[in-house]
Order: sequence, then C-alpha cells, then structure tokens
Amino acid sequence: MQKIEGPACPKCGCMESTLVRRCTEWGKPTERRRCDHCRRVFTVQPPDPEPRKMVDYPLPIACPRCDSYSVETVTTRLPLRSHKCRDCGWSFQSVDRRHAAKS
Ligand SMILES: [Zn+2]
Ligand SMILES: [Zn+2]
Repeated sequence: MQKIEGPACPKCGCMESTLVRRCTEWGKPTERRRCDHCRRVFTVQPPDPEPRKMVDYPLPIACPRCDSYSVETVTTRLPLRSHKCRDCGWSFQSVDRRHAAKS
C-alpha cells in the first residue's frame, strides 16, 4: 500500500488517504483512495503526468520525460530548438534565454 499526503477527503477533509488502485476513466488516469480517517473511498485525478515540452536551453539538455542526456537537436530556430530523446523518443523544445532576451 502506498501512502501519499494528497487530496483532501471530500467527506471529512482529511489529507491522509491510502491509494487503493489506479484505473483509467475516459482515457484519463484516476486513483481510488480510501480516507485513513473516515474510510470513505473516493476518486481523484492525479496531477497530469505529461512532462513539460519546453525546457531552458543552456546545456546540458535533459529529456524532461526520462532525464536522459542522450538528446539530439533536430532543428534550430532561435530562440527555439527542437530536440528528440534518443532513449525514449520524446520530442520537446527548448528556449534559449540568451536569444529570447534580445527580442
Ligand atoms: Zn475522510
Ligand atoms: Zn527521454
């Protein structure tokens, strides 16, 4: 069992609940939780796990999804660069602040 201090119980407002199971509703991940205080079971949507698509340029660039540094630069159109992670295939962009500041 995984204990996370998380969303408040809709019944008693207690912040401590136990993860019962994860499931998917309408294509979105949801979590069933049981309140440690009143035992009420409720459903919450965890924060969007989608990683940011944009990172700041100054190297090293790490994949925002898997933290790999094995990242290639696909296109450069300053201040934006497009990258692709060699490890997980995630595509993302970085913004070069030095160039962005000039405009
Ligand atoms: Zn409760
Ligand atoms: Zn990656």
